[in-house]
Amino acid sequence: MCGCATRVAYLMSGKGPQIIVAGAGIIGASIAWHLTRGGGRVTVFDAGEAGGVATPNSFSWINSNYSFARPYFALRHHSMGEWRRLSRVLPQLPVSLSGSLYLPAPGVDLEKFVKRNRAWGYRIELIDGARFRELEPHWRHETGLAARAGDEGAAEAEEVAQCLVAAAVEEGAVLRAKTRIEGLVFSHSGVCGVRVNGETVPADEVIVAAGTATAELVSPCGFELPLTAPPGILVHTAPVAPLLNSIVLADGLHIRQKPGGELLAGADNQGTELDGDPEASAEILMQRMRAALPGGDALALAGITTGYRPTPGDGLPVLGRAPGVSGLYIAVMHSGVTLCPAVGDFAAREILTGARDTLLAPFGPERFGDMPRAAAVHGDAGDG
Ligand SMILES: Cc1cc2nc3c(=O)[nH]c(=O)nc-3n(C[C@H](O)[C@H](O)[C@H](O)COP(=O)(O)OP(=O)(O)OC[C@H]3O[C@@H](n4cnc5c(N)ncnc54)[C@H](O)[C@@H]3O)c2cc1C
Repeated sequence: MCGCATRVAYLMSGKGPQIIVAGAGIIGASIAWHLTRGGGRVTVFDAGEAGGVATPNSFSWINSNYSFARPYFALRHHSMGEWRRLSRVLPQLPVSLSGSLYLPAPGVDLEKFVKRNRAWGYRIELIDGARFRELEPHWRHETGLAARAGDEGAAEAEEVAQCLVAAAVEEGAVLRAKTRIEGLVFSHSGVCGVRVNGETVPADEVIVAAGTATAELVSPCGFELPLTAPPGILVHTAPVAPLLNSIVLADGLHIRQKPGGELLAGADNQGTELDGDPEASAEILMQRMRAALPGGDALALAGITTGYRPTPGDGLPVLGRAPGVSGLYIAVMHSGVTLCPAVGDFAAREILTGARDTLLAPFGPERFGDMPRAAAVHGDAGDG
């Protein structure tokens, strides 16, 4: 396990710890890449291919704002800056931080929204209709006061996950795609590997970043992680000529244009269903898009996706070592696209050096209650 004495032994031997990452969505991929760069010997297992399950169905907006509690705002805000660091090191990552435009919505006082965000150090400003038109000349609705958050953006999340895994593999990590982890393997003191195809694969540390499957994988430790998976519907159009420069957050229509020209839209970035079923919701969203952008019927629906958001019971990220069970680290969250770079960096540093960043203080799994020691749950050493 990755205790202090063990880390000293790693340093003296010049060999990093043997680490298994369960899941190659955007969270597992980021942790795997940061760990590999930091000297860990990493094997990534995914039941499918690298890229994830929630990740390809995400709106992938990178943001923070004062409607989150301050510690969560701070973590998200830090991660927004970390996207710039990650893009400098890996310029092939498809991420664009070209800003978001917030249009008025019921119950939102834009002036207050901007003032409070700015007080927290967020780069956001009020703009008038003329400035909005300069920024988005194709938007057909008349707009008055709006807000522009200059550091927000979006990533093509599935490709980011695939790039991070590929970059980790280039640096020595091993990817075992289409290989489902059947369970954790326990020693006296905690987790010492995983079971794959009925065989034990040993590890000093196992990181469970399995999205909505995380709770099930960690439950043999005696820890019931409260995790829900609310669905979210997004519509995708066929590619069109450039129409949008920013992410536009209008009442009932959150929309962005992908680098290939496709428009991606939801009623909000969560993909809230509008009317009964996905097809009916998609039709409403297509009508809203056609009203907002030029092209009319040329704006063709190419697909509807329903994604399931890995959402811990209190809505906040779960990131940290499982209390009372050595060798197990849990990483599951909504807003995994916003949080990808910070989570990868913080988790890798904690696993490799033992240092936990203070920004993570409220987000450990222990907030849901202590887990019994694995040995107490499973008796003697052996497969769990
Ligand atoms: C509609 C929608 C809109 C969203 N909008 C945003 C947004 O605007 N901004 C934002 O930041 N976030 C957003 N999110 C959330 C974000 O997409 C997720 O937080 C993020 O993708 C989670 O990534 P992950 O790697 O944890 O999970 P996943 O992408 O689900 O990856 C988990 C991986 O684990 C693998 N796995 C599972 N079980 C096993 C096993 N036993 N063995 C091996 N592998 C296993 C799976 O195959 C999968 O590849 C949205 C999500 C949805 C669905």
